[in-house]
Amino acid sequence: MDTHSSLIIIDYAKCPPCSELICIGVCPVGIIEQDENQKPTIINFSSCTKCGVCINLCPAKAITLPQSKNK
Ligand code: SF4
Ligand code: SF4
Repeated sequence: MDTHSSLIIIDYAKCPPCSELICIGVCPVGIIEQDENQKPTIINFSSCTKCGVCINLCPAKAITLPQSKNK
């Protein structure tokens, strides 16, 4: 299934952002970039493997993946 029903979400209300923008550095497919407000933004949702690395490493727990249906 290649559904786009669940997409990674960055809650900007929770994202300080952290000084090193950890999520940008850890994404293995490099789809998180810094926007003009110094906040991380997903530039290509369809390339997200939903690996969960950014979710696990965000110190503010600002990144979530709603209702993942993968295994
Ligand atoms: S879940 Fe993985 S692939 Fe998707 S944005 Fe986060 S680190 Fe990148
Ligand atoms: S790791 Fe979390 S707190 Fe840091 S920039 Fe990314 S979303 Fe914001």
